[in-house]
Amino acid sequence: MTDSTSLGDERAKVGELGREMLAQELTKGTGGNVSVRSDDRFAISPSGVPYEDVTAESVPVVDLDGERLEGDLKPSNETPMHAVIYRERDDVGAIIHTHSPYASTFASLNEPIPASHYLIAYAGTEIPVAGYEPPGTTALGELAMNTMGDNHDAVLLKNHGVITVGTTGADALDVALMVEYCARIHYQAINVGEPAILPDEAVEDLRKMFKTDYGQQ
Ligand SMILES: [Zn+2]
Repeated sequence: MTDSTSLGDERAKVGELGREMLAQELTKGTGGNVSVRSDDRFAISPSGVPYEDVTAESVPVVDLDGERLEGDLKPSNETPMHAVIYRERDDVGAIIHTHSPYASTFASLNEPIPASHYLIAYAGTEIPVAGYEPPGTTALGELAMNTMGDNHDAVLLKNHGVITVGTTGADALDVALMVEYCARIHYQAINVGEPAILPDEAVEDLRKMFKTDYGQQ
């Protein structure tokens, strides 16, 4: 029923996104993970393989329960978290999980990142923090999903890192970059003074604009 070439594009994309995460300094070594969905399956980074060594064939494909369907390597230990989000959000086609340093700083402070820069609109009106559950558990995925809801595309994981989602891999990566940028600006701002925070309505308007006007349609 399946052959070794199924989800070929999605599997190749997982390797590309991982290398781009490294190049953009969103992660180090084998940290973080990436997945790209096609209907009721998704391709996800193999566990513990350096991104430069990830080929399309080496990328596992799993179902929405996280059970491996294809590929010889073990899928990322965060597969249960990715599976929960895909089950709950039909609009999500790709997920990126990083430990990017500025965003992870706020995750360790258990502090949401407010709208001190307009680019936060890529992610939501703010970037909320989900409480702590151990890495690799379905409980962590459920907590992250419940905190993110349907209206945010990013969430911080307390004492851990960041999850971002998008319609495509490129969208999820853009959100991950914006989250890290906004975290850095907010960190700098609170170290110098008291940042002005944009009202929710202003950020909602930007969010609609980004979703409709900024595409290449
Ligand atoms: Zn992690």
